[in-house]
Amino acid sequence: MIGTGILKGMAVTARNFIGSYFEKDRLITVQYPEERNPLPENYRNFPFLIYDGNDAEAGLRCVACKICEKECPPQCIYITKSEDKKPDYMGKPQFYPAVFDIDISVCMSCQICVEVCPFEAIKMDKVFELSRRERFDALLTRKNELAKSNSYYHQIHPTEAAEVDAKLTEAAAKKKPAAGAGSTQPAGASPSQTGG
Ligand code: SF4
Ligand code: SF4
Repeated sequence: MIGTGILKGMAVTARNFIGSYFEKDRLITVQYPEERNPLPENYRNFPFLIYDGNDAEAGLRCVACKICEKECPPQCIYITKSEDKKPDYMGKPQFYPAVFDIDISVCMSCQICVEVCPFEAIKMDKVFELSRRERFDALLTRKNELAKSNSYYHQIHPTEAAEVDAKLTEAAAKKKPAAGAGSTQPAGASPSQTGG
């Protein structure tokens, strides 16, 4: 019959409207910003850089290989490689980014930078309240703002972060066979216990 679908839709709306006075589960809106719905674990918006331990500069996993910069479709990543090297999570000397900027006014949250990074150094954040009054430089996010601890990564994406830690631990163990039998744990493998 013509109009049956509309009537059914209205019945659902009426049931939820009246039911919302009696059952909190039927309330599908919240009084933002005082109230917030929890974000799903796989929610993502803009990238951030991971560091191990408590020192954002020393523990930064990024080695400034620039793969993400090349692959970013809207070209919103800008990296300058360091002149010197610092030890990575396995103690191997590596370059690091002297400059690492992401223009989040351009970023389209595609996650390609995360997928191409061979060092598990860049991941997607959940922070979404990033609006600014200014149109340009205010949304250019610098290395010191992008750097967040592995503990933070564990808080926002626990399942994914645990998988990454396991992968790094395994990689470190393969590279340090017999000699490091008692200390194969890479600094980056479980920094959730040490990071800030
Ligand atoms: S999420 Fe996509 S658009 Fe944003 S920085 Fe990464 S590759 Fe570029
Ligand atoms: S974030 Fe990853 S892909 Fe990008 S420069 Fe650093 S190490 Fe390379």
